[in-house]
Amino acid sequence: MTQRYRGRFAPSPTGPLHLGSLVTALASWLDARAHDGDWLVRIEDIDYPRCVKGADDDILRTLAALGLHPDEPPVWQSRRETRYAEALHSLEIAGQLYPCGCSRREIADSLIHVRERHQTLGYPGTCRNGLHGKLPRAWRVRVPDGDAATVCFDDRWQGRQCQNLETELGDFVLRRADGLWAYQLAVVVDDAAQEITHIVRGADLLDSTPRQIHLQHLLGLPTPSYLHVPVVVNAVGEKLSKQSGAEALDTAAPLDALRQAGAHLGIVNGEGNVPAWLETATEQWKEKLAASN
Ligand code: GLU
Repeated sequence: MTQRYRGRFAPSPTGPLHLGSLVTALASWLDARAHDGDWLVRIEDIDYPRCVKGADDDILRTLAALGLHPDEPPVWQSRRETRYAEALHSLEIAGQLYPCGCSRREIADSLIHVRERHQTLGYPGTCRNGLHGKLPRAWRVRVPDGDAATVCFDDRWQGRQCQNLETELGDFVLRRADGLWAYQLAVVVDDAAQEITHIVRGADLLDSTPRQIHLQHLLGLPTPSYLHVPVVVNAVGEKLSKQSGAEALDTAAPLDALRQAGAHLGIVNGEGNVPAWLETATEQWKEKLAASN
């Protein structure tokens, strides 16, 4: 029996939903509906300094106003931190983790030399074999050497993607110097715990995916299927985000918001109310899937 499709939308509550985040929400919702699957919402609120009070409720209200209702109650990452601690501990026991005492400045300085020698940009592994008398700041996971360092996956929208974790990135941080959990760890733990089979999200996260696949392998977790939708950019080509001045969606005009987001995904239909628009959009998404298979 094939596993039931489970997808999710995982917003960081750093501000209200804007067109860019709606495109991701809509794509993940459409993909789940087109597969007769479940669609979940997870609030990724563990980067506390970036979170805005009340933004989570605001996002959930906006999704509801647009007819995008999760099939299970939303979960908040801030209530799941013991799971991240357990995962980190298991990586430590497996010898995959080490404390790092380097400051950003030291890493930047050492990279200049490393780049000259090896054409690499990643963390040079200064603390791999000990702290050299420094105090531990962050915790890093080891990436493989040689051929095993190349992680590839077939993205359903972007095609085949490969990244060499050793030369393009280096050992990466799972617990930050400020004590906060890194997104890469939390997202992997939660996608597995929620039995997510299909991840649909913005292409700005395309280069995070090989890191997440590496962590899935180390933690013995399954790798979901991935689809990264093109990001919406503003007039000067920057990704729409709170930082680039994206406007909050007008929930008084839900159809306009859906039409704009849909157009970005190649979905255009003239339905005049939200449920009918979503139903027709789902049919169109199914046709796209059939055409790409
Ligand atoms: N929380 C992330 C963001 O809002 C998305 C994470 C994901 O979909 O994997 O950018």
